[in-house]
Amino acid sequence: MAFENLSERIQKALKNLTGKGKISEEDINRASREIRLALLEADVNFKVVKDFIKTIKKEALGKEVQESLNPGQQVIKIVNEELTKMMGEDAATLNKSKHIPTVIMMVGLQGTGKTTTVGKLAYHLQKTQNARPLLIAGDIYRPAAVDQLKQIGEQLKVPVYSETNEKDVAKIVENGLKEADKNKNDYVIIDTAGRLEIDEPLMEELERVKKVSDPDNILLVVDAMTGQAATDVAKGFDERLGVTGVILTKLDGDTRGGAALSIRAVTGKPIIYTGQGEKLTDLEDFHPDRMASRILGMGDMLTLIERAQQDYDEKEAQKVAEKMKENTFDFNDFIDQLEQVQKMGPLDQIMKMIPGMANNPQLQNMSIDEKQIAHTKAIVYSMTKEERENPDVLNPSRRRRIAAGSARPVVEVNRMIKQFKMARDMMQKVTKGNFKGLSNLPGM
Ligand code: GDP
Repeated sequence: MAFENLSERIQKALKNLTGKGKISEEDINRASREIRLALLEADVNFKVVKDFIKTIKKEALGKEVQESLNPGQQVIKIVNEELTKMMGEDAATLNKSKHIPTVIMMVGLQGTGKTTTVGKLAYHLQKTQNARPLLIAGDIYRPAAVDQLKQIGEQLKVPVYSETNEKDVAKIVENGLKEADKNKNDYVIIDTAGRLEIDEPLMEELERVKKVSDPDNILLVVDAMTGQAATDVAKGFDERLGVTGVILTKLDGDTRGGAALSIRAVTGKPIIYTGQGEKLTDLEDFHPDRMASRILGMGDMLTLIERAQQDYDEKEAQKVAEKMKENTFDFNDFIDQLEQVQKMGPLDQIMKMIPGMANNPQLQNMSIDEKQIAHTKAIVYSMTKEERENPDVLNPSRRRRIAAGSARPVVEVNRMIKQFKMARDMMQKVTKGNFKGLSNLPGM
């Protein structure tokens, strides 16, 4: 998971400030030093770090203390705000053309995930706007790229325009746009060639594609794993083409996060989306404020809710929320939820979006794999109807019977019941809206 180290270190630096009635200049200096090191090690641009620390110090020392926050919380609030600003403050969106189609030209170095991201974006537009995009295969030097795009098109039932004999990419793009006009597609996404590094022939070709397609968006795809180098690449593409936004891919890997934190500050270009995996569903809108909260371990409930909305039946979600509130959530619902949650992605990732959970040591024991889910189901199926509906009746002798019935050890049954109760209590807090603000952070 991206930012893991950074997140841990910043939180540690800030933890020393919490609970203190008064914070001295020395306290702030110490925390600033630790945060500075953490950012540099995360590969954030040196100058960006310098400005950041300067602002934090100035703000933290100069600010009137708000009554509602203790001094430690106040500093965390400042760090949160400044981290958000560093990444761009408001979430950026695509430029939309007044008349169809809105044209999106994707550029980037080879292997950054451009072709995959064309597919992800098409899916995202289908899902969120009911869009009917057309994809143009403009990476003609890599035959595999054309095939890859065609496959993606088939999967999404989205048309892909490609030509086999034409060697002039600009011509292909021109023809592709005519096709889109004919079919009244509302979006056109152009995949383009990449190289291992920026070179003159590539730039010339991209300039010609830009000229014939007059794109509303030129989105630069950058690989978050390349760290600071990503900002140099971004500068290079921007100087020649005028990039309108950035898509940061592979943020699911264990990148140190430097690119995400410095790209906006260094290039002035907003990150619009992030790639969070290899599947077509793994694209997320980028919200600087939510990302800052995630880094500070304050969770990201909004993204969690959005993900849930994508995969959940709304009525179903409403029903569960009601049950949580009324405390009637039982093991039958638990099994249903397990299956739903499995659809949303790896559980440890999801849990980390819940405020206060990012650093919870119990999280380590909560990773659930397929086999474990099967065991959990076996345990629940060995319960009587009454036990499933009323988990509080599960005394030791019932637990022993359930263990025998499901062929699982008693300790596992106990653990599962404990986890269920924990999840239920936690979800209850969340559904009661008891998760906002800083006062709920662990250790405060
Ligand atoms: P292109 O050369 O820029 O078109 O790159 P591709 O789209 O072919 O992607 C290169 C590799 O990166 C493929 O193996 C993709 O599955 C992988 N990839 C793309 N985006 C992501 C992402 O967000 N996360 C991860 N983990 N892998 C990605």
